[in-house]
This record gives sequence, C-alpha cells and structure tokens, in this order.
Amino acid sequence: MADLSGKTGLVVGVANKRSIAWAIAQALQANGARLAVTYQGERLAENVRELAEGLTDPLLLPLDVTDDGQIAHVFGEIDRVFGGLDFVVHGAAFAPREELSAPFVQTTREGFRLSLDVSAYSLIALARGALPLMEKRGGGSIVTLTYLGSQRVFQNYNVMGVAKAALESCVRYLAADLGPKNIRVNAISAGPIKTLAASGISGFSGILQHYRDRAPLRRTVETAEVAEAALFLLGPAGRAITAEVLMVDGGYHATGM
Ligand code: NAP
Repeated sequence: MADLSGKTGLVVGVANKRSIAWAIAQALQANGARLAVTYQGERLAENVRELAEGLTDPLLLPLDVTDDGQIAHVFGEIDRVFGGLDFVVHGAAFAPREELSAPFVQTTREGFRLSLDVSAYSLIALARGALPLMEKRGGGSIVTLTYLGSQRVFQNYNVMGVAKAALESCVRYLAADLGPKNIRVNAISAGPIKTLAASGISGFSGILQHYRDRAPLRRTVETAEVAEAALFLLGPAGRAITAEVLMVDGGYHATGM
C-alpha cells in the first residue's frame, strides 16, 4: 500500500494483540518501516516482548508517558539506533476506573489531572521529543487516536471525553507549530473496539451494539481498518493532510435521529 522501507517509527500504546496501536505497528512493519515499540511498566513487558518477536529488528523500550525522564531516554535511544525518526503513533490513554462509572459531576481533581496528563499532554511531550529526530529526516508524521466522545456525550465516557477534546485541540496547535518543519499531526477518531482500555468503560457493550444498529455501515470497525487509515495518514498518500481528525467509525458521527 505504501513503501515505507528505510523509514522508522515510534509506536506508543501497545498493551496486547488487541491494541489499536499494535494493529498500526503491524501495518507499518508490513510496509517496510522499522519500529521502536514501547510498553508501560513490567506488567506489560512480557506481552509486548512476545508480540514484538513478529517485527523485524525492533527497538523495545519502557515508557510511562507521565515520566519526562523516560521520554528523554526513549528518544535518546531512537536517535542512537535509528539516527532519526519519520513517524510517531500515539495510542496511550488512561482514566481512573471510578471516573468512568461515577456521575461526571463527581470527577475528582486528581482524576481529571491524571487523565488529561496521560491522554492529551503526552502528545505534546512526544512531539517535542520527536522534533529534532524528525528534523534530521526533513519532516515527519504524527498520528494519535481519539473518540467522538470529545464532542458528544457518551454515557460513562466522562473525563475521557474531556481529555479527547483536549487531545484534538493539541493536534491542531501542534500541526500549526510543526507544519513549517514539514511535520504533520493528525488524529483518527475510531469507532468503538473491544480492547483493554475500552473494557474500563462501564456499559461498553451497549455502545458497540448501538453502533451496529445505527451506524450507516451497520457494523463496528476493526483494528486493522483503523491501521490502514493510519498508514494513509502516516505515509506519502497523506502528505498534504495535517491538523485533521479523520473519522473511521462506519459513518456513525453523521447520524442524528
Ligand atoms: P489499549 O490496548 O488498552 O491501549 C491503551 C494503551 O495506553 C495501553 O497500552 C496502556 O497501557 C497505555 N497507557 C496508559 N497509561 C499509560 C502511560 N502512563 N504511559 C504509557 N502508556 C500508557 O486500548 P486501545 O483501545 O487500543 O487504545 C488506544 C487508543 O485508542 C487510546 O487513545 C484510546 O482512547 C483510543 N481509542 C480507542 C477506541 C476503542 O473503542 N477501543 C476508540 C477510539 C479511540 P496500560 O494497559 O498499562 O494502561
């Protein structure tokens, strides 16, 4: 689909084989890119190590996106081993479980801070880390993952909706900032998919069924479909696209009554 041979990418947000970021990693690898893949903490290290056995010569690194020291270490290692960077895939998101079931008005200060830090601020931190490495390549492309809960109210999505609104705004500000350096920044707004992160949202199966009933395509989407859209935005076919939120949701976002 795209010739990415000689290109290098960083993929953040792989927890297991169902992760959207993992599907994107596989698509990038299948098109010739060499990847650095991160895992959050030792709990996920083994999972990610096993998955990465399917990649060609990957760089595996620990990364908690709330830790500036770890972010610096990741980009230092990428610079040392790859000598530059062409893509960043940002698929990290987190909100404390209780914030995704209690009434929104009960959102705590700490829950709000942590959710916005992991799910939105981290894009700025990763873009800043990637900047000098992408400049070495004459440009780059960054893709993050968002959800329609940024604009509309979905039961129990709560503070994650606020974090996604901030994330989409970060996409536009980063795109404006980095565009003159030929670095593009986009988001994919994916329809609901049963992943580890999604299992934290109370009533998630009800959301999935609602999409099957109401989306124009009368179905939900698969991680591989999101990955193909990411490949389009990351690769040469997307070279004139930046500051965009691309809906990959079977058309659900257009529905009204
Ligand atoms: P996932 O497999 O659970 O991926 C989320 C990843 O974020 C996990 O690897 C998680 O690690 C990581 N993460 C959380 N806190 C982190 C931190 N402090 N530092 C580094 N990584 C951290 O779920 P997913 O559904 O593929 O989610 C990927 C992205 O897609 C998220 O931004 C999500 O909001 C978005 N999205 C998902 C859907 C959906 O329906 N699934 C729809 C639209 C958008 P831990 O497991 O250790 O927390």
